[in-house]
Order: sequence, then C-alpha cells, then structure tokens
Amino acid sequence: MKGNDKMNKTELFKYIDSQRDNMVSTLSQLISYPSYQCEPYDGAPFGKAVRDCLTHALGVCRDFGFITKDFDGYAGTASFTDDEPELGILAHLDVVPEGTGWTSDPYTARISDGKLFGRGAIDDKGPAVAVMYAMKAIKDMGIPLKKNVRLILGTNEENGSADLEYYFTKENPPKYTFTPDGNYPVINIEKGMIRGYFKAEAKPTVSEYPDSSERTVAELHGGATINAVPESAYAVVTGIDESEVVKCAEELGLLDMFTVKSIGRCLRIDVKGVSAHASTPESGKNAVTALIAVLAKLKMNDDCHKKISSLAELFPYGETNGKSLGINLNDKESGELTCVLSVIDYEAGSFDLKCDIRFPASFKVEDVLPKLTESMNKAGFELYNNMASQAHCVSADSPFVQKLLSVYEEMTGEKGECIAIGGGTYVHEIEGGVAFGAEFIGEDNHMHSADEFIDIDKLVLNAKMFALAILRVCGE
Ligand SMILES: [Zn+2]
Repeated sequence: MKGNDKMNKTELFKYIDSQRDNMVSTLSQLISYPSYQCEPYDGAPFGKAVRDCLTHALGVCRDFGFITKDFDGYAGTASFTDDEPELGILAHLDVVPEGTGWTSDPYTARISDGKLFGRGAIDDKGPAVAVMYAMKAIKDMGIPLKKNVRLILGTNEENGSADLEYYFTKENPPKYTFTPDGNYPVINIEKGMIRGYFKAEAKPTVSEYPDSSERTVAELHGGATINAVPESAYAVVTGIDESEVVKCAEELGLLDMFTVKSIGRCLRIDVKGVSAHASTPESGKNAVTALIAVLAKLKMNDDCHKKISSLAELFPYGETNGKSLGINLNDKESGELTCVLSVIDYEAGSFDLKCDIRFPASFKVEDVLPKLTESMNKAGFELYNNMASQAHCVSADSPFVQKLLSVYEEMTGEKGECIAIGGGTYVHEIEGGVAFGAEFIGEDNHMHSADEFIDIDKLVLNAKMFALAILRVCGE
C-alpha cells in the first residue's frame, strides 16, 4: 500500500474490530458441526458433518459477496473475481475427533475469559474465519486489489489431504499460497519424512508358554501410533527373576520407568515413558527403546534375544538422531534428522516394528532409505512397507516470504524470521507454499486435545494480519 496507505490501514483495522462479535458468531456456527471424518456418501466424501460444515462456510462467503465454488464436497473456494488467483489461502474445516476430558460440549462454542472454546477453534476453523473476515473487510472498505485472492477451504487435512489431491485435478495451484494452519512468523522449511515398516521371524525356543522355565522373551509390545514417541511398552519374559530385571534397569538409570510383577511363572515388565510428536522426539521418553535396552542386558541365548539386542544397538535409548543406524544427517537450515522407533510387536516368533524419520531439507529420501534398510537388514529385519515424502523448502529471501515477514513484524513489533519444522503442514505438496500463522510463538491453545480454544483477541489480530498480507501481495 502507498499513498493513502496509512488511512486505509487504520480504517481497515477499525472495520475488522467492528466485526469481532460477527467473527465469534460465525466461528461458533462452524464449531457446531462435528466435522471429523466419517462414512462417505455421494457428494460427501468425508461424511455428513464435514459436508454440512463446508456448505455452511461457503454460504457465509456468498453472503459476503464472494464468488464461491464447491468441488464435490472435497473443497470449496471463495474468490474476489473469476480471474486465476495470484494468492491462495488454504484453511481446513475438518477436525480431529473430540477425544476425552472436555469441560463442556466440544461442539457448542463456549466463551470464557476472552477465549472461545470448541473443537476446531484454533485448528483450523478459527483461522478460516479470520481469513473470511479479512477478505470481507477489504471488499466492504472498497480497497482495490490488482490480483485475485482465493480462499480454499479443504476438508481432509487431518486424514491425508485427499481433498487437495482432488482439488488440484480441477484447478491450478495459485502463484502464491499460504496456510494459516501452522505457526508465525513463517514456516518455509518442512523436513522430509520416511515411515518404515519392518518385520522379522525369530525361531521360538519355548514350547510351553507361559509355563516354561527357559530364559526367553515370550511377548513384547509397545507404542500405538507411528508418528509419536511411545508412552508405554511391556514384555512378558520367562525363566527370569524380578531382581535381574531391576538390576539391569538400575544399571541403565531407567528404573523409575519400570514396573515388574510376577504372573504365574512369567514376569511382566511394564515401562512408562513420555509421549511426544515424532518430529520433536527429544521432548519425549521412548518406552519401547527403554524396554529393549533392558531386555538386551538380560542373559538369554535364543534368536529372539539376538534380534532384540541388535535393535538395542540400532535404537539406543535417548538417541533421537539415527546415528546408530548411520543416518544422522543434518544441515544448517533444518537441523538434525530425527528418528523414532514408535511401535513394536513381538509374539509367536514374529516381529513387527514401525519407525518414523524426519530428515533435513537439503537431503532426499534416497539419501536415507537405502542406508536405513541396509542397517536393518544386517540385524535381520526386512522392510515390508514404507511411506516417504521429500522435504518442502521455500527460499526465505523470496519476495512473497519477505512480504509475510514484514506483516508479522509490523503487527507484532517482533523480528520476523523463517522457521523450519520436522512436521508437514497443509502446503507440504504445494510448490512455493508456506505456513503463516495462526499460532503465535509459545501460544497455548490445546490443539488436538480437550478444551481447544482460540483467544478472541488473537482471532481478530489474525484477521488483521491476513488482510494486510492480502494487500501486500495483491494490493496496489
Ligand atoms: Zn490443522
């Protein structure tokens, strides 16, 4: 903006402030749809609540005077004009299920202490509403845009982004895209990811489980989801005294995580760790690798124990950078590779395990996967499945990113710097896409948990930031 720039901005922000109650009301309406993925039907690929929520949101955009389009229930758009969009803003209306522990109904917005509580308040219905009102403000104030802006409302971000896959078979990607489904200031680097699934057979030596007196591991289980540091694990062993297990755990300094109890002639060993997202494993305590470390120290000499000992060498407790697997890559922009052994199951002579790896942006899947497979093969484990995605990287020096950073600096008075993350955002597969908001640094909002909320002041601030970003990218 130039010329009457300042006046425009003051007036624009005054208008957005005047919309505060309307924003709260629109967000409350969207929260009333329990829009997590359900059974599909015609025109509703992700279920009825998702479908209805999208219809509602597009209705609001139409009432605001935007041109809307529904992409068969996969996504919807709201645009200023019919032109190809210069800027796409990508938000999503699907949510994760409510889970447990809510103070009040997750699908009835509750306002308390300046906060609006409800499933989707911050992820990502609140940010979607902030974009809707940012666009409305520019339109109602009659501020001219040189290029078109399009809000893209997706409906499957939480379950694999099949919405975008469909949408991009119908439409070209906008020249620039940001998603308010991450953090400020700007996320420009997302590490690459590999999910590895391995199996192995171990010759069973025990004939009469569970009454055998032979020294062996009969069962071993831990972890539930591949993208998390496992919080708990347990093993059933035979022929071993409780005191032996305690001694091993003590020697490794892990005793406080362990509980051991006799069940008949078996021993059950339980381990309690601390869960964390697989992209930040250093903030967790891996129950599976702790258990493996202790089992490896017990004296046994069968095939199963040999494999457990190999795993203990490849995934030492406390190591999160894949060094022992020979994949500890790092670069200046995105830091170290992270590696989590997240799920393990061993029963009746068969091992099944899963690991989650995030590698730095200057490397490729091909720099990691063959080496990982080789190390695991040497230990007798075979890769039977994998999911991999390359890293996502947008130059911090690009004019688009610099404009977004300037908006952040202007609005918060803080230095705006790009950040790299281990997770993937909604724009991971969109060339040149970045995340811009809606979470501020250090913000507490209970995303994906009970009593999720958005601070109403921040909802309004987000609308101002998005309005300014639109003007910087597409305005005069
Ligand atoms: Zn989200």
